[in-house]
Amino acid sequence: MNDFIPYGRQNISDGDIDAVVQVLKSDWLTTGPNVDEFEHSLSQHSQAKYCIAVCNATAALHIAYMALEIGKGDAVWTSPNTFLATANAAIMCGASVDFVDICSKTYNISVESLEKKLIEAKKTGTLPKLVVPVHFGGQSCDMQKIAKLSQIYGFKIVEDASHAIGGDYQGEPVGNCQYSDITVFSFHPVKIMTTAEGGALLTNDKGLNDKLRLLRTHGMTRDSQLMENESEGGWYYEMVSMGYNYRITDIQCALGSSQLKRLNGFIDERHAIADRYSKLITDSKITLPFQNNDVRSSFHLYPILVESYSRKQIFDYLRNNSIGVNVLYIPLHIQPYYKKLGFELGNYPNAEKYYSQTIALPMYSGLSQPQQIYVTDKLQKAVAKYGQ
Ligand SMILES: *Cc1c(COP(=O)(O)O)cnc(C)c1O
Repeated sequence: MNDFIPYGRQNISDGDIDAVVQVLKSDWLTTGPNVDEFEHSLSQHSQAKYCIAVCNATAALHIAYMALEIGKGDAVWTSPNTFLATANAAIMCGASVDFVDICSKTYNISVESLEKKLIEAKKTGTLPKLVVPVHFGGQSCDMQKIAKLSQIYGFKIVEDASHAIGGDYQGEPVGNCQYSDITVFSFHPVKIMTTAEGGALLTNDKGLNDKLRLLRTHGMTRDSQLMENESEGGWYYEMVSMGYNYRITDIQCALGSSQLKRLNGFIDERHAIADRYSKLITDSKITLPFQNNDVRSSFHLYPILVESYSRKQIFDYLRNNSIGVNVLYIPLHIQPYYKKLGFELGNYPNAEKYYSQTIALPMYSGLSQPQQIYVTDKLQKAVAKYGQ
C-alpha cells in the first residue's frame, strides 16, 4: 500500500484509447467532425441549446466574459474560494475584480453576503456587470436565488462549473443555463472527465453562441450571415471581430465524447466513494462536506475540515504516508497579485477560515475501498496525534 494515492486523477479506458487512435488514423486532427460531435453530445447532456468546445476552461472564461462585453470600467464579482482563472479572466478583459465571501457550510459564494454587497454597491453606483458563481467541489450554488438578484440589480451570470459537470441542481443538469447566461466546464485531468486539456461553454442564447465561435477562432467567419460584405468566392472569409486561437483538437474531442458516455458512471462512483468516506470517518473532530438537499454534487472534491492549528501537521503526516491530499483553495484575495490590487487578509473571513482548516482527500473514479480504508485510518491517526 505504498503506492502514492493522488487527490484526483483521470480514468482512461481501452475504449477511450481506441477513440483517440481512430482520430489519429483519420483525415482530421484539429477542428473536424469530432469537435461537432462532442459539442452536440455535451449540449444534449447539459440540456443547453448551444455548446462551444475550447482548449481549456481558462480560455472559456476569458471569451465568456468578452462575449458579455466585460471590459474597462466594469466590475466582475466572484468567490475568493476558487482557482485563479475565474478572476484572472476578468483582468484579461481589463475589468476589475471583487470578491464575495463564502457560505461556511457549502464553501460556495454566500447569497446573503452577495445581497448585502449589492445593496451597498447600488448606493455607491458600483454594481457589478457580471457575477461568477463557482460550484465548488461539484456542488451547485443556489442559482435560483442568484438569478433573482441578477434581475433586481442587472448583472450577467457566468457559472464556473469547472468542478461540476455531471452534477444536478433542483433535479436538472448543471450546465443547462436556466439561471445563467453561460456555463463553463473544464476537462483538465483532475476534473470529473477529461480531454487532457479542454473546456466548454454552454448557452441558450444564439447571439452569444455566434460571438463565442468568433472569439474562439480569430474573429473570422465563413458564414455569409455573419459577414459584412458579399462573398468574393469559395475562398472568402471575413474577420468581423477580435478573436483568439482557443480551438480544441479532434483528438481531444474524441476522448471527450468517449469520456462523456462514462460520465454518469463516474458520478455514481464518486457518490459511492463519498458515502464510504462518511461511514469510515467516525472522528467527530473532522467535519465532512455538507450537501444541500436540492443539489446532487459531482463530487469533484472531498474537502474535510480539521482544527486549523493542526492542519499542517495532519497534511504533512498524510503526504509522508503517500497520500496526495491537497488544499483547495488559497483564497484569491491573499495572493500577492490580488493584494497589490488592494485586497488584504481579513477581507473574507469565511474563506480564510475555511482555507486554514481544509484538506481535500483523494477522490476520483478508480479509488478503491482498501485505499479509502488506508486513507481514513491514517487521517484519524493523524487527528488523534495532532488534533487536540
Ligand atoms: C480547473 C479550473 C479552472 C481552469 O480550468 P482549465 O481547464 O485548467 O483552464 C477554472 N475554474 C475552476 C474553478 C477550476 O477548478
